Amino acid sequence: MDWTGLGDEAIDLLRRYLTIDTTNPPGGEIAGARFLAEVLAREGLASEIAESAPGRASLVARLPGDGALGGVVLHHHIDVVYADRRYWSVDPFAGEVRDGFLYGRGALDMKGIGVLQLAAVLALKRSGTPLTRDVIFLATADEEAGSAFGAAWVAAERRHWLAGAEYALSEFGGIITDARWRTAVGAIHVSEKTALALRLTARGEPGHGSRLSTRSPRLHDRPEQQGADHVAGNAERDGRSRTEPELDPDERVHPVDELPELPELALVGVEQAAERAHGQDAIGPSAAAAPSVWR
Ligand SMILES: [Zn+2]
Repeated sequence: MDWTGLGDEAIDLLRRYLTIDTTNPPGGEIAGARFLAEVLAREGLASEIAESAPGRASLVARLPGDGALGGVVLHHHIDVVYADRRYWSVDPFAGEVRDGFLYGRGALDMKGIGVLQLAAVLALKRSGTPLTRDVIFLATADEEAGSAFGAAWVAAERRHWLAGAEYALSEFGGIITDARWRTAVGAIHVSEKTALALRLTARGEPGHGSRLSTRSPRLHDRPEQQGADHVAGNAERDGRSRTEPELDPDERVHPVDELPELPELALVGVEQAAERAHGQDAIGPSAAAAPSVWR
């Protein structure tokens, strides 16, 4: 097997695949599906394209094994998410190689994986490798917007595409290697974007954003911490020590007793209304001592 040649071919295939704009919405995955079908057809591999809605196409092709073991599905999605050209330094749909990197929307998510799978199928076909499992190449629409027109539709309406399949490889997961590890790790991505229940314990004086508390750890115990963090961040960038914050007076968080007086007008009427509603302690840290302003 000429692996270098296959690698070059895969890069060329990916470049061309990236030039097909399959931004979802609207998707238009049929253009990508036809591209894949043409590549497969040149190798003498039949494929089938089905549309869940006009333009919303998925594709399947199958390399038959001897049936000894269940099939393996190589799956990727044809659609990509929107690319805002204002934030791109290259045309996201040009398949441009720059400084040894191939750029384009979908290069990673996930036309790149799709082309690796496609190259594997091509290599298996050309080499005539005897297979114990069917290899099922599956490309689906609409992964980026819920899959109703893609994988979900295939599962409901084209179930026979997956007949005999035992395993599926798709987005995420993979084989991870590191020189420091004794062996490679097979990562299995079983779920994402689910709820994560955490138990959080916070210790301190309860308060409310509308009321300053002299016992607030933020304002009282470490009155300048917020400003210090900010300055320390600048200092680290400047190569200075984190232990020597230089506070800009305008960036300080003031302790309660340094807060500027609020204009009395600000509380006129509010305090009276609050007293009527909640009693004398309804406003300010000490309504009796400082009836009109917060200090
Ligand atoms: Zn993806």
